[in-house]
Amino acid sequence: MRTADIAQRYLNYFEREGHEVAPSASLISPNPTTLFTIAGMVPFIPYLLGEKTPPAKRMASNQKCVRTLDIDEVGKTTRHGTFFQMLGNFSFGDYFKEEAIHYAWQLLTTPKDQGGYGFDPENLWVTTFTDDEEARSIWRNEGFDPSHMEILGMEDNFWTTGGPGPGGPCSEIYVDRGPQYGKDGGPSADENRFIEIWDLVFENFEVDNVKSKTDLHIVGELQHKNIDTGAGLERLAYLLQGKQNIYETDEVYPVIEAAERLSGHQYGQSEESDVRMRVVADHVRSALMIMSDGVRPSNVGRGYVLRRLLRRTVRSMRMLGVTDPVLPSLFPVSKEAMEASYPELNETFKDVSEAAYGEEDAFRRTLVNGTTILDMAVEKAKQGGRDQQPLVSGEDAFTLHDTYGFPIELTLEMAQERGVKVDEDEFRKLMSEQKSRARQDALKKRHNVDLSVYDDFKKTLAAPIEFLGYTDYSSRST
Ligand code: ATP
Repeated sequence: MRTADIAQRYLNYFEREGHEVAPSASLISPNPTTLFTIAGMVPFIPYLLGEKTPPAKRMASNQKCVRTLDIDEVGKTTRHGTFFQMLGNFSFGDYFKEEAIHYAWQLLTTPKDQGGYGFDPENLWVTTFTDDEEARSIWRNEGFDPSHMEILGMEDNFWTTGGPGPGGPCSEIYVDRGPQYGKDGGPSADENRFIEIWDLVFENFEVDNVKSKTDLHIVGELQHKNIDTGAGLERLAYLLQGKQNIYETDEVYPVIEAAERLSGHQYGQSEESDVRMRVVADHVRSALMIMSDGVRPSNVGRGYVLRRLLRRTVRSMRMLGVTDPVLPSLFPVSKEAMEASYPELNETFKDVSEAAYGEEDAFRRTLVNGTTILDMAVEKAKQGGRDQQPLVSGEDAFTLHDTYGFPIELTLEMAQERGVKVDEDEFRKLMSEQKSRARQDALKKRHNVDLSVYDDFKKTLAAPIEFLGYTDYSSRST
């Protein structure tokens, strides 16, 4: 089953069960406190909070998500993408725990030729919240093996929005990949063997005073109870397609193959280069999808996350030995793998790819200049630190940032690859000194200069700027 078919099967199933299917919302989060849409429930928050009336009481979706929190896991675990798709079914004051558990169990275990996913019940495990005997009894009534149930506390199996509002216990569903993948004993024994695929959240309480997951006050039962579930599409795909991880599924793997062709490395030969190829495949796809929703590289917010994804791709390919531009070979492959699910990529791709390739050109220039300086700083650190752990000075990290455009994350990553640490405290001190100097300079200037001379300049800047190419300044006639 292709990833797109797995998603369609989910939506068809819930449509048959009376759910209205909503299209995926943008990756740009409507919630001002998060940069990206991080879960399927995000577009439905006003309905879950009772602030707006939903178009239907039962809804389902396949939502595009980006989670930068998981960036360090990418390529190393089998199950974390920066971009992924979250399937979800939602009930706004309609059905509750019994139906939510029943639907999940039925869809997972119904044979493939009868519209389900055909998982062997023997390989499924669930966790439930300590006080939620009701959920355990529903699972047992569905025929679930009680020896495959784990009971967990507030930290793992209780959900809140992080503030006052709805909250409640959850029940997570896992697939056991088998003894060859790790320790026996259930989800909390080995997260590489037992893969979390679906989280069912039963919102039945009103909570306030939420200091942490374990320190909150339950005000009482909600009048309208909600169901909010999230199933990772790529995780389902890798398990159903018999692959080893999410990066080997049909929507991601073509980019690994392209990276193989470009670098001459064969996937599956060395863990180190495999991780790099998986990072490349993940980041290219995330960047493509984020840019298709309108984000462009910059030094702040979403644009900065995007810039990091693109730069990490370029660097990972360099570490695989490719010094030529890589994005023009990788972006079209990712687009082709994703366009069946997201036909809008065909409209956005021209603009998106031009911006991505321009970003790569600019970064390649930065890298050439900065890497030599970094290598000198690392050499100095290694010579200076015979007795202690070698440390790149904060001053060198600051010069790399200030003069060569190396963001601190890049210096940290490259230093780590060379086996040294960076004096981050000193770097941050120098950064804040620079900021306060800049503030004082600005104040001084404001007192001495007639700022009205800038007015015309500002107006010119507000006018549309003609695009003249990235490097072609020399041939301009003016
Ligand atoms: P994990 O602990 O495995 O990182 P999670 O507890 O953060 O997962 P939830 O927030 O409950 O996951 O998200 C619901 C579902 O979305 C998960 O059960 C999983 O299938 C999927 N999911 C979550 N994060 C990712 C990710 N980074 N990449 C791919 N799928 C994910």
